[in-house]
This record gives sequence, structure tokens and C-alpha cells, in this order.
Amino acid sequence: MDYPEPQVLHIKIDVPQYVSEIAGRLADNGYQAYVVGGAVRDYLIGRKPTDWDISSSATPEEVKKLFGDTAIPTGERFGTLTVLSGNQGVEVTTFRREGRYSDGRRPDIVVFSDNLRDDVARRDFTINALAYDIRQQTVTDCFGGMKDLEEMVIRAVGDPDERFNEDSLRMLRAIRLAVELGFTISPETLGGIAKLHSAIGRVSPERIQDELSRMLLSPEPGKAMEYAYETHLLDHILPELSDCRGVPAYHESPDTLLQHSIKACENIEPRIELRLAALLHDIGKPLTMAPDDTGRLRFFNHESVGAELARSALNRLKYPAALIDKVTTLIKWHMFTYEPATSDKGIRRLVNSLGIETIYNLAKVRQADRVSLGFDPSPGRNMQAFLGRVEDVLKQGPVFTVKDLVVDGFDVMEALSIPEGPEVGRILEELLDMVLEEPALNTRERLLDILSGIADRKAR
Ligand code: ATP
Ligand code: MG
Repeated sequence: MDYPEPQVLHIKIDVPQYVSEIAGRLADNGYQAYVVGGAVRDYLIGRKPTDWDISSSATPEEVKKLFGDTAIPTGERFGTLTVLSGNQGVEVTTFRREGRYSDGRRPDIVVFSDNLRDDVARRDFTINALAYDIRQQTVTDCFGGMKDLEEMVIRAVGDPDERFNEDSLRMLRAIRLAVELGFTISPETLGGIAKLHSAIGRVSPERIQDELSRMLLSPEPGKAMEYAYETHLLDHILPELSDCRGVPAYHESPDTLLQHSIKACENIEPRIELRLAALLHDIGKPLTMAPDDTGRLRFFNHESVGAELARSALNRLKYPAALIDKVTTLIKWHMFTYEPATSDKGIRRLVNSLGIETIYNLAKVRQADRVSLGFDPSPGRNMQAFLGRVEDVLKQGPVFTVKDLVVDGFDVMEALSIPEGPEVGRILEELLDMVLEEPALNTRERLLDILSGIADRKAR
């Protein structure tokens, strides 16, 4: 490959001591050593670098020889050793040349090189292909990365189609980096994604999940979803959401349901369960849409259908079960309206079955939903009234679950002389019901008293 003439610029980067010591040791022994990748990029745009990586002309064997036991083989096949310095580790990777990719995921062979330019040429984006020489205090820029940093552009190194064909994950990385950094994607690079979108099928669900979560937790989740939609990546990652493009957000809204979902996601705090719930809260609508007698569109039971669709989508992306439960509960309950005639006991039961965290999260989803429909930022009158009632019953004392009862299944079995079985659970529920009505009943004395009352009743 012919490379353009590299630019070498005098710039000082404050590299942590442990990193410069390791690079210095390599340099003292006649090897080239550069800080590369995310750290250089992040430092130059004023973000705090997370991990400092070194690329070197030293082969893995040579790195091992030089650093002995402090060089841990963490990715030796790809030329990476983690060199420890105190409790910090720096990944030292031998210069590589791009190998051939036949699966769009991993190079078939790794070819080491003695040349920095080979190494930066295999990197994904120009802003990730900058290399810093600590001793010289110079940044080597082979592909115009400095200009792209200044213009805040994500641009593939070389031909985007080729690069995305080699490794399809790069398509998601482009979008994720753009929204994390507040950059745009260059038109050619975006065009490459739009052309090769279906190759994303070769990427494992775990890696898609990781990039998707980072997009959603970024400052611009909406922009990420728009890029994904525009390039058709969304059709592969979350087809359920793509399907929302043809449905109106609301019977009188000019927005499509896709736009509404994206806005809701943008208007909720960056916690993954909330961002996912807001993004997916209405995905049951396309399947349930039907006009009523007056011709107005209705979406009967879309919250339950949506919860199930979300469950299968998040399963497909291999999200953890506990997170899936949280998201689907929020979707299932997002249409919840509170009936003002509900008794305190009824409210306690709701707090009990949903959990207080879910209730507060539901209010957040409701607010995001309303804001994205153009209302003022509030969870709405009904939800607010419900939250007021919840506060009231919480003030009266803690809300109990069966686990909080001061008697347990063994007490029940003993008092009633019954064996283990569903009857025990039913009796505990009965006790809980009484305690929800009157929290002061939750003492051993009074509950055992009630149990002996039940035993007498049964004996008669
Ligand atoms: P972050 O650490 O914030 O995710 P990063 O750019 O440092 O961003 P890493 O995954 O740590 O990402 O990768 C370090 C460097 O390795 C990148 O800056 C880039 O130069 C290169 N790189 C990572 N993934 C790829 C890839 N799929 N194709 C080509 N180069 C890559
Ligand atoms: Mg990194």
C-alpha cells in the first residue's frame, strides 16, 4: 500500500509516568514505541483518556525478554502483552499490518511489521490512527486525523467499503464514536455503512449489544438511532423499531412513531434500563394498530405486545435477564393509570408488587413519553397524584412483602400443623394482606395470635 506523506507535528501530551516509563524502556533498547489509538485522540480533544496503549516495533518475544514477569500475555496471538507497572497495566502491541479477513470479524493471520505506518493503516478511523512519540513530543499523522479532529469528523482510514468489509463492527464503532464525541460521520464513510449494512449480521450479538448500549448512554442517543436508521443498520439490530417508521406517533401527531420513540429516549436520564424502555415503549403499536368505529387509530394492548417484543429483541442481543425484566416491566406498565378511589391498602399492594424503584422509573418513562409529544416536562396529573399517594403510604411506615413479615413459613407450618406446600404460601399472603391494612400487626406476638386463630377456625 502506498501511504501519503505523514505529517509530524510538535505537540506535548501529558502521558502518565507509568506509561512513559514503559515506552522509555522500549526506546532505550532500540525499539520504536508510540502511544496510539483512543488515548491520543481523547487527549487532543480535551477528554480524559481511559486506557493508554503502546504500539512498538518490538516483537512479543522481545517485549517478554525486556519486561520479564511483568509482561502478561493477554492477546499474544495478536501481538499484545500487558506490561504491569505497579497496579497499572499498559497494553504493548507489536506493529501489525492488516491481515486478510475472510469472515468480516477477525483477520485470518496477523502479520507483524517494523513500521508504524503499517500499524496505523490498519486502524479504523483517521482520528484513531494518530501516534505519539513521548520522547520527541511529536504526533505522527498519516491520514489527516488532526484535521478530522478539528472538524469533528469520523472518517474511515482508506476506502470505507473495504474497511467495513474487513470488519463489520467498524460500522457500529463509527456511529458510537460519533455520538460519544459529538462528531459527525463523513459522507463517504456514512455511504459505506449504508451500502454494507447487512454485513452486520456477521458480528456477534454481544458486541452489537455493547456498542448499542454505549450509543444509548451517550449524550446523543437520538443521533445514533437516526444514523442507524438512515444507513439501515437499525433494520438488523432492532427491526422492531424500524417498523415504527410507518405508524403515526399519536392520532394527531405529525411525528412518526419512530421519531417519537427516539425523542422519548433522548428525554430520559442516561441509565440503560431507562433509555431502552423509552426507546422501545411503543414497539407494540405497529402490530396492534386498528381504527375504532370513529376511524380513529387505536393500539389496543400495545403495552403487553410491546413488552413481549422487547423481551425477544433484548434476548436476541444477549442482554442480561435482570435488565430485560426491568425494561419489559416498564414497557408493560407504561400505560398505567391510577384510580383515585384506590384504598391505601391497594396502593401498598401496588408498591409491593411493582417495587418502589419501578414506580419512580415508570414516572420517568411517562415524563419522557409526554415531553416527546410536546407536553411540559412532568409525568402528568394522574401519575403525579399516584406518586403523592405512594409518598403518603410510605410515610405511614415501610411497605411490607412476605419476606418482611416477622413470622415465616416454619411458624405457619408449626402453628397450623401442616406440611410444607402451597397452603403455607397462601396463609403468609393472608397475613401480609392484614399487615398491609394495618402495619402495626407485624409483631411476632400478634401474628402468632392470628395464626392460632386460623388454626382454631380450621379445627372446627
Ligand atoms: P474506547 O476505548 O473509548 O472504546 P478506542 O478508540 O480506544 O475507544 P479501543 O477498542 O480501545 O477503542 O481500541 C483502541 C484502538 O484500536 C482504536 O483507537 C483503533 O485505533 C484500534 N481499533 C479498535 N477496534 C478496531 C477495529 N475494529 N478496526 C480497526 N481498528 C480498531
Ligand atoms: Mg480504548
